[in-house]
Amino acid sequence: MSYCPKNNLLNLLRRGSKFFRKASNSAAPTAAPTSTPGQASSFAAGISSTSAINDLHILKTRLCIIGSGPAAHTAAIYASRAELKPILFEGWMANGIAPGGQLTTTTDVENFPGFPDGINGIELMDRCRKQSLRFGTQILTETVNKVDFSTTPFKVFTDSKAVIADSIIVATGAVAKRLDFPGSGEGPGGFWNRGISACAVCDGAAPIFRNKPLAVIGGGDSAMEEATFLTKYGSIVYIIHRRDTFRASKIMQQRALTNPKIQVLWNSAVVGAYGDENTNNRVLGGLKVKNVLSGEVSDLKVSGLFFAIGHEPATKFLDGQLELDSGGYVVTRPGTTLTSVHGVFAAGDVQDKKYRQAVTAAGTAQLFFILFGIICFVWVAWQPWKPNITCKRLDHRRVKLIDEYPSGCSIMVGSSG
Ligand SMILES: Cc1cc2nc3c(=O)[nH]c(=O)nc-3n(C[C@H](O)[C@H](O)[C@H](O)COP(=O)(O)OP(=O)(O)OC[C@H]3O[C@@H](n4cnc5c(N)ncnc54)[C@H](O)[C@@H]3O)c2cc1C
Repeated sequence: MSYCPKNNLLNLLRRGSKFFRKASNSAAPTAAPTSTPGQASSFAAGISSTSAINDLHILKTRLCIIGSGPAAHTAAIYASRAELKPILFEGWMANGIAPGGQLTTTTDVENFPGFPDGINGIELMDRCRKQSLRFGTQILTETVNKVDFSTTPFKVFTDSKAVIADSIIVATGAVAKRLDFPGSGEGPGGFWNRGISACAVCDGAAPIFRNKPLAVIGGGDSAMEEATFLTKYGSIVYIIHRRDTFRASKIMQQRALTNPKIQVLWNSAVVGAYGDENTNNRVLGGLKVKNVLSGEVSDLKVSGLFFAIGHEPATKFLDGQLELDSGGYVVTRPGTTLTSVHGVFAAGDVQDKKYRQAVTAAGTAQLFFILFGIICFVWVAWQPWKPNITCKRLDHRRVKLIDEYPSGCSIMVGSSG
């Protein structure tokens, strides 16, 4: 893309008048980005006709990011460095996960570049959060429970706030499903993160699993993939499945069933986990496995147990306003972050059921800026005689300039379609 300085003045005048028209029509204030609950009623009509909206604190932004994992913070870092002043809702125990996302549920992250000795998952996400704040992201510790993507600007609601935004990034991630049985949880008597995990690719290479018997629960493609992956590290890998057939694809089954290090326990369910006496019960020592046909419970000595029973993407709050696939994941156009609604983007695990890693989640969020979406940059430096122009918005489908925004204004614009 290139700029013709001659046309800029014309564009400026044309867009400027358009801006003032829009700004004067807009129900929201343009100078102050926020309003108090008391002030909200004056422009509530522009958002919703319900009376409840009057009690909400209303904010305006060019970009609202929903989520707080690696994808959300990568988007926030890029957006705030581009001076988009994003608002990020990090959630409050949304789907049972603390702000910071899935990595807050694990201990050491050893495959994120830049940390040769590994880094604690909570600390990594804390650093991401600080980096987002450093460049001006406004972080709100609230869970988004409703959205309105039917018209632009979009609206995003929490219990106490409504945000009016030109663009949205949905980065609400997914939750790895876990089973609940004695010994499966956190805290005293539980072996979660002390031998039990929900991510073989993330944790399988840990020293406590090396050359030890391991187990995977599940019968789908993920279970086959994780079991096959774990054979690199474990002495033997048991797949524990409660039925007598897998629902995994034939090719994945074939790969697992012909692997000499994999053994399947059919019609079986784990009913308990216990500690390893040699370590004073600090780590997992074995499982109680029940044959669901005979009811017989047997002992299975393993040092690792991996749940591979699926993930649940955090998309319920979207209430059908974005196209989802049969598993509830947001559908994005291949290789992009574009969703079914123009101006709404999705990044990270909420739209990725294949890779599901911190680094890929961050990568998809960064795509938003590199390939499509809003490109905003300061060109005051080389156009000092037009100091009030800071940003240009591109039509992300055709990659052409469609709008210029005066600096410091929070104008409301329509879809770039
Ligand atoms: C136990 C475990 C260990 C892992 N270990 C590794 C590892 O070592 N290396 C690695 O690369 N990957 C690892 N992963 C995978 C990695 O955590 C994920 O791929 C990554 O966190 C996905 O990032 P995300 O940004 O898409 O979303 P998430 O990390 O899932 O974060 C989404 C966040 O959005 C918030 N949220 C959800 N809904 C709302 C809402 N309505 N409003 C506001 N906020 C909301 C949630 O609270 C959540 O915090 C692990 C996963 C698990 C479960």
